[in-house]
Amino acid sequence: MTDIRDDVAATFSELYGYAPAGLWSAPGRVNLIGEHTDYNEGFVLPFAINRRTVLALGLRDDSRIRVGSAFADEIAEIDLAELSPERLSGWSAYPLGVAWALGEHGADLAAVPGVDIYIESAVPVGAGLSSSAAIESAVAVALNDVWQLGFDRPTLARVGQLAENKAVGAPTGIMDQSASLLGQQDAAVFLDCRSLEAQVVPLGFDEAGLQLLIIDTGVSHSHATGGYAARRASCERGAAVLGVAALRDLTVDDLPRAQQLLDDETFRRVRHVVTEDQRVLDTVRALRDEGPTAIGELLDASHRSMRDDFEISVPELDLAVETAQANGAVGARMTGGGFGGAAIALVPASGVSRIQVAIDGAFAEHGFAQPTMFVVTASTGATRE
Ligand code: ADP
Ligand code: MG
Repeated sequence: MTDIRDDVAATFSELYGYAPAGLWSAPGRVNLIGEHTDYNEGFVLPFAINRRTVLALGLRDDSRIRVGSAFADEIAEIDLAELSPERLSGWSAYPLGVAWALGEHGADLAAVPGVDIYIESAVPVGAGLSSSAAIESAVAVALNDVWQLGFDRPTLARVGQLAENKAVGAPTGIMDQSASLLGQQDAAVFLDCRSLEAQVVPLGFDEAGLQLLIIDTGVSHSHATGGYAARRASCERGAAVLGVAALRDLTVDDLPRAQQLLDDETFRRVRHVVTEDQRVLDTVRALRDEGPTAIGELLDASHRSMRDDFEISVPELDLAVETAQANGAVGARMTGGGFGGAAIALVPASGVSRIQVAIDGAFAEHGFAQPTMFVVTASTGATRE
């Protein structure tokens, strides 16, 4: 962290020829449980992780906005008055899209000064840890501060989502930005995706002697767009046939009727979402009443549901999960949208290296590329440094 912050400030000065006004940062996130429930207006339980995207920002005396990143060769530049989704593309659509989206939410972009921004990130891209929400949230809090907009965090989450939906063109929900903006140390963010009400739920991993291990399979989820859209369509179909506004409105008691009315595939998609919503509620209750050791079976059940009913797992994710479970994990599941990306395993701190060795061995045996594994802790949300 310290290295990144020093580096960001120094590179900003080199790049733009003056010292930045300040540094801001926002974390990536991991979803503990609640997958494909957000767009069904249900429940999710992500937490902000101890890997952050850091930016330096300086104020200009004109209306230009420039943004550079260690990630990219070129500096993107546009006039604030010219910001629109059609004018934005590539990686800079994330940060510039946030500036545009602040305008859509009522910021007067004709009245604020231009800015220079430089970004570095320790959130791996495309690993299911939402480097996209990290960059959006860092830019959102920075501009909210220096432009003195006074937006609250839930509004900034919607700003980030609008940027991602319209400027980038990815039809994602509100979960990632909420986690990145509302996260707290050692706690998860329990989010109702219908009301957008968020509650902080202490995790207590440390006290229980547990750690959360990320196993990034390296399998790209970039070709998942078709699968994601198909799952969303199945959910919408299921809700329409069953006469509810969203699958959120069903409970496990409705499943027998759903099975009668739906074709087998649609039924299984619906069953995943309905049972996953229940598992999120059960996880929150277990964390509050019994502590984190009690959530293991819920994590395992979530994985089975995604593998068998929602059919979004891949062999690498299944192997990571099964190997973790067989080597002492309290619970394990794939996390994120599926078709690749990462799995998580809740493991006794003393057993982390044993599980890592076992997973490395299993992947080698199956001829899979070596996964990247690291422990994450629940950290604080976006902040001025
Ligand atoms: P993830 O699962 O990591 O969120 P996405 O595809 O949603 O994957 O977002 C990754 C994209 O976000 C990158 O391809 C890039 O365009 C943009 N991005 C993320 N972090 C940075 C960064 N530090 N600098 C520039 N662009 C970034
Ligand atoms: Mg993303």
